[in-house]
Amino acid sequence: MDFDLGDDAARLRARLRDLIAAHIAEDYLGAFTDDPADLDVSQRFCRILAEEGLLTVAWPTEYGGAGGSVWDQTVVREEMWAHHEPRGAQYMGLNWVGPAIMAFGSEAQKARHLPAIAAGEVIWCQGFSEPDAGSDLAALSTRAVADGDGWRLTGQKIWTSYAGMAQWCVLAARVGNGTRHEGITMFLLPMDTEGITVRPIASMLGHHHLNEVFFDDVWAGPGSVLGEVGEGWAVIRRTLAHERVGIARYARCERLLSALGRELAPEWDRLPPAVHAQWARALVEVRVARLLAYRAVHAQDTGAPADVPASVARIAFTSCDQHVAELLFQALGHESLEAGPGAPLHGAVEDHWRYAQAATVASGTIEVQRMIVSKSLLGGRR
Ligand SMILES: Cc1cc2nc3c(=O)[nH]c(=O)nc-3n(C[C@H](O)[C@H](O)[C@H](O)COP(=O)(O)OP(=O)(O)OC[C@H]3O[C@@H](n4cnc5c(N)ncnc54)[C@H](O)[C@@H]3O)c2cc1C
Repeated sequence: MDFDLGDDAARLRARLRDLIAAHIAEDYLGAFTDDPADLDVSQRFCRILAEEGLLTVAWPTEYGGAGGSVWDQTVVREEMWAHHEPRGAQYMGLNWVGPAIMAFGSEAQKARHLPAIAAGEVIWCQGFSEPDAGSDLAALSTRAVADGDGWRLTGQKIWTSYAGMAQWCVLAARVGNGTRHEGITMFLLPMDTEGITVRPIASMLGHHHLNEVFFDDVWAGPGSVLGEVGEGWAVIRRTLAHERVGIARYARCERLLSALGRELAPEWDRLPPAVHAQWARALVEVRVARLLAYRAVHAQDTGAPADVPASVARIAFTSCDQHVAELLFQALGHESLEAGPGAPLHGAVEDHWRYAQAATVASGTIEVQRMIVSKSLLGGRR
């Protein structure tokens, strides 16, 4: 398989690597560590990318983008994820919240939100999952009741990434008494609205990543509905496909696999042949994941249905994530559990392992992705 995306892509990649080298420390592990300075680094870097026209590289110019191709966006995504995603939570705004607003939003919503995302100024969170509606998202029960020219929202979301740092939330709630997909409606809400409470959930991803979010009679004004009332499921289906492809963890896997030889030299040659074989298998898996990502990007680019290719890619990304995490542990031994500056690869191994465990749950579990793919192959309804 020829992965070469051409000279322009190579130049873009080199430019991104220069920018990362200039602004991101070698031992940076992302925006969600216990050190608040890491979030500041990410916020500054997003503004730099925006000034360089690289944050929303594939957005149309009328919305503050650089009018590039989805392949430019793919290169940006790969370089960012390979280097511990220095865009922090903002990857979500440009990957799918912005495109969803472009596709379903009113002119006022586009004018309000798209320039802010393109300038690297805003963090969004995604309020979909609920305590009794995770894989079965259509069972969600957060209610939106019409009140004057707006709505009153009541309910609870869970596992909401970045809610503690986000200024805005894109939220799924149910209007009326319909069941399942009927009545699901998307809202765009400022996180400082009265009645919203965020409670962090302590997890192996640290204190800043996952949250519960409570909505207690929260006012959503006119103009806060994204798309049509009751048509939220279409928005969700479209956005989830973007989200699933948008997290290029295979690029991080490949960078860690290459770094392993350098980290271990000269002990690398003394490792058991089985570990060498495992390394080679992991690299093949990573390259397959990349190929499947490109298939999903191609589907999105050509307007073909992208949800099944996105699920196939997501299965490959998250599986190789876990296999690479295990291989790194095998090769580096107990030292890989260390975190902090003296740890192997600056703690990137320990960090990668923790996130890899969560990867097969986030964005829809691997079991659910497999069901989407098998139903499509068997001709069943989704
Ligand atoms: C790191 C991380 C970040 C996240 N960020 C967000 C976010 O920002 N916003 C948001 O809304 N949500 C977020 N989530 C939530 C995530 O989308 C849900 O955890 C996921 O959809 C699974 O839902 P659940 O946790 O309720 O598990 P459940 O749906 O209860 O599933 C439990 C287990 O049962 C299995 N299962 C369920 N149904 C079936 C079935 N029909 N067939 C076979 N197996 C089944 C699942 O695969 C899983 O193994 C995040 C999760 C993680 C881990």
